[in-house]
Formats: sequence, C-alpha cells, structure tokens
Amino acid sequence: MKKITILGSTGSIGLSALDVIGKNPERFQIVALAAGKNVKLLKKQIDIFKPKIVSASTKENAFKLSQSLPLNNKIKILYGKEGLNEIAAFPAADIVVSAISGAAGLMPTLAAIDAGKDIALANKETMVMAGEIVNRRAKLKKVKILPVDSEHSAIFQCLQGEKIENLRRIILTASGGPFINFNVNQLKQVKLNQALKHPRWKMGKKITIDSATLMNKGLEVIEAKWLFNLDMVKIDVLIHPQSIVHSMIELIDGSVLAQMGIPDMRIPIAYALTYPERIINNIESLNLLKTEKLEFLKPDIKKFPCLRLAYEAGICGGTTPAVLNAANEIAVAAFLERKIKFVDLPGIIDKVLNAHVCGNDSSLESVINADFWARIKTKEILERIKS
Ligand code: NDP
Ligand code: MG
Repeated sequence: MKKITILGSTGSIGLSALDVIGKNPERFQIVALAAGKNVKLLKKQIDIFKPKIVSASTKENAFKLSQSLPLNNKIKILYGKEGLNEIAAFPAADIVVSAISGAAGLMPTLAAIDAGKDIALANKETMVMAGEIVNRRAKLKKVKILPVDSEHSAIFQCLQGEKIENLRRIILTASGGPFINFNVNQLKQVKLNQALKHPRWKMGKKITIDSATLMNKGLEVIEAKWLFNLDMVKIDVLIHPQSIVHSMIELIDGSVLAQMGIPDMRIPIAYALTYPERIINNIESLNLLKTEKLEFLKPDIKKFPCLRLAYEAGICGGTTPAVLNAANEIAVAAFLERKIKFVDLPGIIDKVLNAHVCGNDSSLESVINADFWARIKTKEILERIKS
C-alpha cells in the first residue's frame, strides 16, 4: 500500500490524482491533504479519503473546515505556510504529489524532499526557481523526483532503459494554446475568457494563461533542463496542436522515441505514483484512425516572445529563472484581474528581466530574494501602465 500526500488537492491536478487513487484503493491510501481556499471541496475529500492531517490556506479557512466536520473527528487541521510544510513532511507518507500552483509550491516541496519523501512533481515552478537545489537535496536524501507534467513524463518514459549520454536532444511538444493561428492584430484583441479556453487540456487558470502565451512551454524547457540534467541547447520545442505526441527523445544513433496517448493527466499521474510499475487506468484507447492529422510546427517566438524570454533566462541561470517566474506570476494575476491586455504580458516580464542583474548565485536565499524583488518590480511596472 503506497501512502500518499497531496499538496493542492482541490486543484485540477489534485482532482485527477484523487481520481486515480480512488479507483485503486488496494494500492493507494491518502494520508494527508493540503488545499488553499476551497474548504467545501476539501471537506468532501476528507469524507471520502479520510486523511489523518489536512491544511487550508488561512486560520479562518481552517476554522470553517473544523466547524464542518463531526465533533468526534480525529483529523489534525493546520493552516498557512507552516501548516503546509508540516503536511509536506508528514511522516506516514511515502510519496508527495506536489500540485500547488506557482511559487507557493517551492518550500513545501523542499520540505517533503528534506523529509525523505519521493515527489510526484506537477509544480514546475519549483524546478524553474530552484532546480539545482532540488536536485542536490533529492540526491542527498535519495528521493526520486517523478515528473507529472505530461511532456516530462513522456521524456522520462522514453528514457527508461536508455543511457543519458546517448541522448542527442529532447523535443518538447506544445499544443500552442488557443491563439496559435492568431495574427498580431488578433492577439491585441484577445479577451480573458478566450485565453481561459484551452483547446486540449482543462487546467487551473494560471497554467491556462501560460499555455496561451507559450510561457508554459518556456517554464517546461527550464524544468526539463533540471529534471534531465540537460544543456539548454539540447532542448527543442515543436508546436503539435493535437496533443497526441506528448514529447520525444532523439538518441545519438538517430532513433527518435515518442510517448503518445490521448491527452489525460491521469496517465502521467498514475505513472509517477506507480513507477516503475504500471496500472490499468481505464482510459480510452488512442485511435489513430480517428484522430485528426498530426501536425508539427515551429513555434513563432515573434508572436509569442515568452518562450524566447524563458530560453534566455534558462541559459542565464542563477536567479534569473526565479525572476522570470515571479514576474510572470504577477503579470498573469494582473491579466486575470483584467488590469492589463494579453499582449502586455511579455513586455512586462521582459522589463523586469532587464532590470535584473544576471548572476550565477543560486542559493535558496538568493532565489527567495530574487522572487521577492521581482514581484515588487513587476507591481511597480504595472502601476506605471495604469497611470
Ligand atoms: P489549480 O489552480 O487548478 O490548483 C492549484 C491548487 O493549489 C489548488 O488546490 C489550490 O487550492 C492550491 N493552492 C494554491 N495556492 C496555495 C497556497 N498558497 N497554499 C495552499 N494551497 C494552495 O492548478 P493546477 O492543478 O492546474 O496546477 C497545479 C500545478 O501543476 C501548477 O504548477 C501547474 O503548472 C502544474 N501542472 C498542471 C497541469 C494541469 O493539467 N492542470 C499539467 C502540468 C503541470 P484552492 O483551490 O483550494 O485555493
Ligand atoms: Mg505540460
């Protein structure tokens, strides 16, 4: 029986993970859950999965939750950052699903690694900000970082049985988001509700906007650099609107291996939870006779500069990816609040990156300081746009 903690249980990945876990009660047991504000859903999850310990984002939310549970319940309820870190390190767990969105996922993921837990990693921002630190600590604690992001799971699956030195390059595929065929003028008119409609995947709001700007693919390039210890020049991106080929590896003999399947996050989640085993997932078969024609296109970095910004930040290294990530988070939040236009996003992030001095210090303290600085800087730039 594998004992599992989920950080971000009320989100898109959290729900898919609980679906896989709930369908395999003989294999998996939930021991701890952490959510943010959605107390109602967390309560439902507690009723079904009976964790020993849970956390919510604030004291008020934790209180609301405790009021909704029967008086004789034995569940420990925590809140805030400390609560989240305690959940992440909860001793009973074998593996922690890291599925909080954004930089808030970093510290609890590190807490889980330090506590010796294997990580099923959805929270790519952790790798973008602190990939080097994650790898160092994971090695020290002998824990596995198992990718949940579908592209990285694809690469990880293709690499099974292969020697990393035989890898020529990896090719990350990208759906391209809803605006892949838009011209520059159409992009200027993009409305929030259009950007929130992803053609292939149903995901949280932040990653959905990142997919529309191609920043998501940029973050994934940096994520791949650390997950597979690759030089940035060995990471290519191809737009593949059908999202059937989830990514590919090319080996030194010219062989290209791809992992394919219908787009359903329960596939990579189940693989991360059962690796190196596989389980019956009851997921629809891929019927290539019925799928649309598979296309592969070069990403247009003029129309979608976020991908270029992320490559540059990844090459620069040090704290620059943390700055990219923080600027993106603040700018995306402003777009979600309808304070800026879709086409404003790359320019704002670029301004913050330009104000940052690229250095190779990547200690945790520097990363956290850079994240903090970039958030303030981005807010300053947003203020100037408004006035
Ligand atoms: P969602 O927005 O759907 O879910 C985020 C989860 O994190 C929710 O449970 C939310 O709680 C919780 N949360 C957010 N902030 C905090 C906080 N400060 N403290 C505690 N909990 C918090 O996001 P997704 O599930 O879409 O994405 C999660 C991560 O997985 C992201 O890093 C994303 O990039 C990555 N990912 C997602 C994919 C997808 O298909 N969705 C695919 C590949 C990667 P609440 O809702 O209760 O407030
Ligand atoms: Mg992905």
